[in-house]
Amino acid sequence: MSNKLNGKVALVTGASSGIGEATALALAEEGASVCIVARREDRLQSLAERIRGMGSKVLVIPADLSDQAQAKGAVERTVAELGRLDILVNNAGIMLLGPAAEASLEDWKSMININLMAVLYVTHAALPTFRAQGAGHIVMVSSVSGRFTSPTSNVYSVTKFGVNAFAESLRQEFSAKHKIRVSVIEPGVVATELTDHLTHQATRETYVANTSKWERLESQDIAAAILYAVTQPPRVNVNEILIRPTDQG
Ligand code: NDP
Repeated sequence: MSNKLNGKVALVTGASSGIGEATALALAEEGASVCIVARREDRLQSLAERIRGMGSKVLVIPADLSDQAQAKGAVERTVAELGRLDILVNNAGIMLLGPAAEASLEDWKSMININLMAVLYVTHAALPTFRAQGAGHIVMVSSVSGRFTSPTSNVYSVTKFGVNAFAESLRQEFSAKHKIRVSVIEPGVVATELTDHLTHQATRETYVANTSKWERLESQDIAAAILYAVTQPPRVNVNEILIRPTDQG
């Protein structure tokens, strides 16, 4: 531990697996107190034990962030119980790819609700604290699909392009005036549970077959990019990091 984040408080959404879990660990390892949020409480509790074992403070909040009240409540509890909020990592998300004509509208709604609406709810709830502190850092875990779209990525891309647009607008509104930094992280393929939830079987099989030929990124690679962004001096606002596996041509 080099304690670059000693005294800082971070909230990580979607911390029960994958990139969020690795990010919570990386921030805690640098001394941050971390609030970890997701729906699967058992997974959060085992992560919390690991974080406590590193000597960092942790707050577990089981919540469905697509519900506005739960999203707002997670931010409010973090500030109330950990004393402040310095870093918000908007990471929770799902990727339900598939051909548009055959898509389930429920899948589309779920992606918009968690990938986009939850980001808006949580960020909106955090802004008053960041403004009062005169500092804060919002990290968006977007995607390569937030920069480039492709067949079957349709609504997933809608959500990630939306996150990128929201982030850029926030940066313009709050960076110079309120010293709130905004960083967008855009991973390519990372080996996580993300594809397990794909409901369109043929798309899932093709995706897995194509990407399993590559050495995919690991969650820790993305956590390292986030850690880089949030440990720069206050004058540095890392706006965007696009990161692909070397094998992803
Ligand atoms: P995982 O499936 O491992 O993690 C997704 C996380 O989101 C889980 O912790 C899950 O927790 C949480 N989550 C999902 N729905 C909700 C909800 N309604 N409320 C609260 N939490 C929720 O996948 P990744 O780690 O890969 O995904 C993290 C982010 O990275 C996503 O935004 C994804 O779009 C992005 N990304 C991933 C890439 C990849 O190739 N893996 C590439 C580019 C971007 P729980 O189910 O317990 O609620």
